Amino acid sequence: MDRTPDDLLRLLAERTADVYWTTNDRGILTYVAPQVVVLTGRQPNELIGAPLQALVCEEDFDEAASLQRAIMERRTTCTVAYRLKRTVGEPVWVEATVHAVHSPERALTGFVGSWHDITERRRIEVAFEHQAYHDSLTSLPNRRLFEDRLTIALAQARRLRAQLALLYIDVDRLSRINDTLGHNTGDEVLRTIGRRLSSGVRASDTLARLGGDEFVLVASNLRHVEDTVRIAQLLQHKINQPLTTSKQELFITTSIGIAVFPQDGGEVGSLLASADAATRACKRLGGNGWYLHNSSVNERAMQRLAVEMELHRAVERSEFLVRYQPILGVAQQQITAVEALVRWQHPTRGELLPVSFLEVAEETGLIIGMGEQVIQSACAQARAWLNEGWESTSISVNLSARQFEHPKMLELIDHAVLRHRVPPSVLQIEITEGTALRDLPRSIEVFGELRKRGVRVSIDDFGIGYSSLGYLKELPVNALKIDRTFLTGIPQGRNAAIVAAVIAMGHALGLEVIAEGVELPEQMEFLREHACDVCQGYLFSKPTTAEEIMRMRRG
Ligand code: C2E
Ligand code: MG
Ligand code: MG
Repeated sequence: MDRTPDDLLRLLAERTADVYWTTNDRGILTYVAPQVVVLTGRQPNELIGAPLQALVCEEDFDEAASLQRAIMERRTTCTVAYRLKRTVGEPVWVEATVHAVHSPERALTGFVGSWHDITERRRIEVAFEHQAYHDSLTSLPNRRLFEDRLTIALAQARRLRAQLALLYIDVDRLSRINDTLGHNTGDEVLRTIGRRLSSGVRASDTLARLGGDEFVLVASNLRHVEDTVRIAQLLQHKINQPLTTSKQELFITTSIGIAVFPQDGGEVGSLLASADAATRACKRLGGNGWYLHNSSVNERAMQRLAVEMELHRAVERSEFLVRYQPILGVAQQQITAVEALVRWQHPTRGELLPVSFLEVAEETGLIIGMGEQVIQSACAQARAWLNEGWESTSISVNLSARQFEHPKMLELIDHAVLRHRVPPSVLQIEITEGTALRDLPRSIEVFGELRKRGVRVSIDDFGIGYSSLGYLKELPVNALKIDRTFLTGIPQGRNAAIVAAVIAMGHALGLEVIAEGVELPEQMEFLREHACDVCQGYLFSKPTTAEEIMRMRRG
C-alpha cells in the first residue's frame, strides 16, 4: 500500500526520540506524538484540547512565555529549555523547539514544535557547576563561591548600612595530624570539622572552605560586634568535642580571626586580609581562641561579655537591690510617692548604676529576671510602708521595652501584688515614649489592662523622643514625666518655654505632670509658678533606702 506524504510525516514524527506536537494560535494542543507518554506519563488523547502551558512547571512559565513572545515577534524558530510535569516523579527537562505557522495571508495559525529530553545533560551540568563552586572534600562552598557570596553580602550591608562579619577559622596544628596520622586521617578530620561548623551557622550565612585548614564564615545582619564573639564561641564549642577517627581520639582546636565591615575593610580583599591578620594574632597568643581585628573592640567585647556573664549570675543570686527617690508635691513639698530605681550590688565593684548594665540586660533578655526582682521588691516595700501606716504610698517602677513587650508582663505584676497583698493602685508603671510607640495599638491595649487593675501609667523621659504629640490623646495614661534635660537652664532660655508648654498641655489632657531632675531652688520656683504637680530631684534627695524615705516622711 502506498503511503501519502502525510502518512510518512506522521510515521517520522512517531518514530523519533523527540516528541512532536502542534497547537492552534492560542497554544491549545491539536496534536501530540504518542511518545509523550514516556516523557510525561500522559496519553495524547488526555492532552489534546488542553493548553500546552498546562504541562510546563510553574517555575518555568517565564521561559515558556518568552519563547512564545520571541516567535510572535520574529516569526522564526526558537529554542529554550524548561521542565515538563510528570504524573509521577520529578519533572523532566526538555529543550523545546518551536516554529510559528502562518497562513498565506501571513496570519498566525498555530505552532509546531518538539521536545527533546535533556534531563541527563542537565544533571551533568548541575554536577559540574556544583563541582566548580564547591570543595570536593567537605562539599562546602569553595573560595570562588565564597567570594561571590561575600560580594553580594557586602553590597547588601552597604545598602542597609548594616554590619557584617568575616570569621576566619584556622584549624590549629592540622599539619601535625597529617604528618603523624597520614593524609586520610587529616581529610577525615576536615570533613568532620566542616560538618560541625555547618551545624552551628544560620542558613542565611555562608560557610566556606578556602583550602588547607582554613574555613571562613560570612555572618550578615550583625547588631553588635560582640555577637561575633558569641558565634565564634559556639563554633569552637562544637569543634572542641572529642573527635574519633579510625586511628584514635583527637582533640581539635581552632583560631578564629574576626573582621567586621565596614570598620576593618570595605571590600572582599581588605576584609579577608584583616580577618587573616586577626587569625595570625590569635595564633601568636597560643591559638584555641578568637581575636577581633580591631583590638580596641577586643577589650570592649571582653568587657561586655564579662558583664553578660556576671549578669547571669546576678539574676540567679538576686544581686539587685532597689533605691527609692522621693517624689514631692510642688505646692506642699511633701512626699507623695517614690520611684524605684534598680542598683546592682556587685560582689567586687560595689553598687552599680543602671548605665553600666541596663543595656546588656535588655539585649540579652536578662532584664526580665532582673525586672521581676524589682517589681517583687517594690511590692514588698509597699506592703511594709502600708503596715507602717503610710496609706497613700505609691511606687513607680520603670519597665524597659523588652519587659513591656513580654507576654507574661501583666501576669508578673498580678503575681507580685497578690503575693504581697498590696492594692494594684500602689503601683505606677513608667514607660518611655519610644517604648510606648513601638506598637501603639498594643500599648493602648496593655495600658488599658493596667488601668483596669488600678495600676497607674506614666510616660517617662517625655519630650526627648518624638515630635508628634498626636499619640498622647489615644493612650490611656495618667502622667507625663518631663525629661530632666529640659530642666537645665531654667528659668532662662528656651527650655523654660518648653517646660511651661508641656505642663499646660499635660493639664489640658487631664494628666498629672512630673518634673524630673530638679536640682536648683530656681527650677523649683519656676515649676511652682507654672503649677507643675509633682517633682523629684537631687534638690530634695538622691535615690536612697526605704528607711531613709520613712525618716524623711516623718521629717
Ligand atoms: P529614669 O526612669 O528617668 O530615672 C531617673 C534617673 O534620673 C535616675 O537615674 C535618677 O537617679 C536620676 N536623677 C534623679 N534626680 C536627679 C537629679 O536631680 N539630677 C540628676 N542628674 N539625675 C537625677 P538612675 O537611677 O541611674 O536610672 C537611670 C535610668 O535607668 C532610669 O531613668 C530608668 O530609665 C532606668 N532604670 C532604673 N531602674 C530601672 C528598673 O528597675 N527597670 C528598668 N527597666 N529600668 C530602670
Ligand atoms: Mg523613670
Ligand atoms: Mg526619666
